[in-house]
Amino acid sequence: MDKVKISEIEKSQDKSLHLEIDEYIDEIKANIEGYLDITPLGEFVSVKGHLSGEINLTCDLCLKDFDYDLDFDVDEMFAKNAVYDGEKQEIEIKDGQFVTDLNGSDEIDIYDLLYQSVILELPNKKVCGINCKEDFFEKDDSFKVHDERMDVFKTIKIEK
Ligand SMILES: [Zn+2]
Repeated sequence: MDKVKISEIEKSQDKSLHLEIDEYIDEIKANIEGYLDITPLGEFVSVKGHLSGEINLTCDLCLKDFDYDLDFDVDEMFAKNAVYDGEKQEIEIKDGQFVTDLNGSDEIDIYDLLYQSVILELPNKKVCGINCKEDFFEKDDSFKVHDERMDVFKTIKIEK
């Protein structure tokens, strides 16, 4: 199920392809379930759907692995042929809507689409949980207000 042919969808009775997704993406250790509806629209191909699942991430703070839940809508547009001259892979046709060039290819790589969609959903800062963050800030003195009255305790030596 890695690639779908646009010309075959156009020839089909429904003129649209409904895909049930249940994939493990090895490169990013992600389990993805859901669906995608692929609909050719003349020069463009619309891909809409919903995906959920989980991905194994490494916490930025404690470096432990943890599972991150995924749950998001897909709304992508592909252009069959290059719609502009340039080296970029994507252009924006309206607010927040990006078009990916297929450069004349008749195929959409579903595996790659899933991969890219998940990458976009990942948080900038990967933290395993609220508690992890609290521990981190408590240990880091730079986050505390310096209280001079506490300095006295640093000079106390305990006689044995
Ligand atoms: Zn953590």
